[in-house]
Amino acid sequence: MKYEAVIGLEVHAQLKTKQKIFCSCSTLFNKPQNQNTCPVCTGMPGVLPVLNKEAVQRGLKAALALNCKINKKSIFARKNYFYPDLPKGYQISQYNLPLAQDGYLEIESDDNIKKIRIHRLHLEEDAGKNIHCGEESRLNFNRAGVPLAEIVTEPDFRGALEAATYVRELRSILQYLDVCDGNMEEGSLRCDANISLRPKGQKEFGVKTEVKNMNSFKFIERAISYEIERQTEILEEGGRVIQETRLWDSSKGKTLPMRSKEEAHDYRYFPEPDLRPLLVDDVWIEKVKSSIPELHPEKKARFISQYGLPAYDADILTLSKDLADYFESCTKEVQDPKMVSNWMMTELLRELKDKNQSIQNCSVSWNALAELLNLVKKGTISGKVGKDVFKEMMKRGVSASSLIEEQGLKQVDDKEFLVSAIHQVLKENPKELEKYRGGQEKLFGFFVGQVMKLTKGQANPKAVNELLRAKLKE
Ligand SMILES: [Zn+2]
Repeated sequence: MKYEAVIGLEVHAQLKTKQKIFCSCSTLFNKPQNQNTCPVCTGMPGVLPVLNKEAVQRGLKAALALNCKINKKSIFARKNYFYPDLPKGYQISQYNLPLAQDGYLEIESDDNIKKIRIHRLHLEEDAGKNIHCGEESRLNFNRAGVPLAEIVTEPDFRGALEAATYVRELRSILQYLDVCDGNMEEGSLRCDANISLRPKGQKEFGVKTEVKNMNSFKFIERAISYEIERQTEILEEGGRVIQETRLWDSSKGKTLPMRSKEEAHDYRYFPEPDLRPLLVDDVWIEKVKSSIPELHPEKKARFISQYGLPAYDADILTLSKDLADYFESCTKEVQDPKMVSNWMMTELLRELKDKNQSIQNCSVSWNALAELLNLVKKGTISGKVGKDVFKEMMKRGVSASSLIEEQGLKQVDDKEFLVSAIHQVLKENPKELEKYRGGQEKLFGFFVGQVMKLTKGQANPKAVNELLRAKLKE
């Protein structure tokens, strides 16, 4: 490829506070329209904003985890523009002096660690929502005044996958910190991308477009890939990329123009006269710093060294704190990390995906899984039966032992019972027996399989192996 992509990301993360950033209205999602509103967040004249300390604290925590320099004095500013979902006619944001700047986040890219520089992190309020229905448009201000942290990177990404990896890592950090719930479908985490191309080796940036509306990792990757292809085509045909904002349309699989920058806003930022400068001292910074828990990268490294897990498994199991906690609690009970990891990576994650459940509302708790795995380990049931039992547990939320009792699934190692099953299998397969005796020893596995089938998977495979070997030697 002749061209190199240059990509920067802006992520808006909704800070997980009970109240809005400048008033005491609730931030709960899915409340009846305009229920979470008051004169402040609907922009009535004469009202005064009061900064929510909790929002600052969450913003600080995110900034410190992202290795940012905290500005001990930051300023709120009015970003002026008119839009029906913004009743004040301006949004309170931060401009010249943001809460934090000059951080970085490390991501894995092509088996290397790449440092993505964070330009700034600032606090701002969200706007309301326009709802267009036929001839009318309605406004819901529940979201107006909800606290956001806007996290802006330097243009450090060179491909779509890198960008998606960064958002995945960033989301994991914000969730570990309990700063943002990371729910992309509900809009708690929104991502915009600035994308331009330049001939390889050139230093100057090309003309960029901004892509909005990418509300999943998959869409971030697809939208950026699409935009890179689109711009490549234009440049190769000798055309010129227009600076504009484009929307990702997931149903069409394309980005479409939204508005061009010719009519770009001049926001006329100026300091918000109703809010004093935000001052953060060392004591507060240290206190927040000490509350930062072990995050995904460190936890992943620890899972590899402490439990001997492969890097791939460790990565997936530590991406969310809840999944990592589930693993560690279960492992303590079962004392076999590899076994727990295998079951979680295959059975558990597959069932969660099929049932569209998350680990938080999973119908099999970690201690229920531990009980099941200990029964498999002890040989009370076979691994194969265990998998069926697990499916049933997911479906009905009952314990492994009660299911085994109810369905009589206990593994059988009664010698007499197994010997008679072996006899029957050998009697029913005389040709195979002859071939085996003639030297085709790989047929041994076939006989074991037949015995397992005959006993509906309940025979203890280890005992079957021993008895069958003895029988065939006769
Ligand atoms: Zn309010």
